[in-house]
Amino acid sequence: MLDVCDPQVMRGLLAEFGFHFSKSKGQNFLTRRWVPERIVRESGIDRSCGAVEIGPGFGPLTQELCLHAGKVVALELDTTLRPVLEKTVGEFDNLDLRFTDALKADLPALVNEALPGLTPVACANLPYYITSPVLTKLLESRCFAAVTVMVQKEVALRICAKAGSPDYSAFTVLCNYYAAPKLLFDVPPSCFMPQPKVTSAVVCLKTRPQPPADIADEALFFRTVRAAFAMRRKTLLNCLSAGFPQKSKAELTEIMQSVGIAPTARGETLDIPAFAALSNALR
Ligand code: SAH
Repeated sequence: MLDVCDPQVMRGLLAEFGFHFSKSKGQNFLTRRWVPERIVRESGIDRSCGAVEIGPGFGPLTQELCLHAGKVVALELDTTLRPVLEKTVGEFDNLDLRFTDALKADLPALVNEALPGLTPVACANLPYYITSPVLTKLLESRCFAAVTVMVQKEVALRICAKAGSPDYSAFTVLCNYYAAPKLLFDVPPSCFMPQPKVTSAVVCLKTRPQPPADIADEALFFRTVRAAFAMRRKTLLNCLSAGFPQKSKAELTEIMQSVGIAPTARGETLDIPAFAALSNALR
């Protein structure tokens, strides 16, 4: 197996295939073998798992996944990586490599078709320009038992934030609605080529079989959350009033009080059960 994390090997591949890193495709490739090793180890991926990887790049995580998972489906947008990946991961017969846009993929169909009989998991060093849409898509697809991703540290902290903390956001609520996120470890800029400006971190999101609260109407729940976070410095009452213009402030105050939320509260202090109670009362 070619050590694609070895800077000398990487430089060789760059020269042999005339490959240039694309900033617009979010290409920062791993140059330290311990990173993919630790990602796969700490996410607990074994032969019973079928892994979907997004953005293999030169294939360091792909190699590690192929060594440990039952099967790997890797989705890569950049077709100029085809000959490189042929050389770096072509030897694995449990790999199904597809050149396609992960944002446009039908993930439940892919999992059904390509990973039958295996526990589906997603694992990726995500291209940072599409972190939230990709992670949202992976979670909303409801077809993975766990999603382990490397993201910017700042995003990792937002995903794992507690209600009331400055990092708590609508994205925190979305991630915690579908999964129980856990911060695994940091990865400094020196572990990549080219080096990004910021520190990265790996997060493992174990998906929940049931939402963490009783929610009568999922769409209304997310509409309530979006409204609450739409204007950060306004009270929850003003945010709800802007998000639900058909309801008067008096009505909204009464609804909030009926579920024990003070009219002066701010949206970012509500945890998921509180948002659930509020959205159920708004029906
Ligand atoms: N996993 C590799 C590369 C990470 S860089 C490593 O850790 O070294 C991110 C990768 O995602 C790049 O290979 C980039 O081409 C790919 N990518 C970017 N947008 C994508 C998309 N929409 N769908 C699939 N892959 C994408």
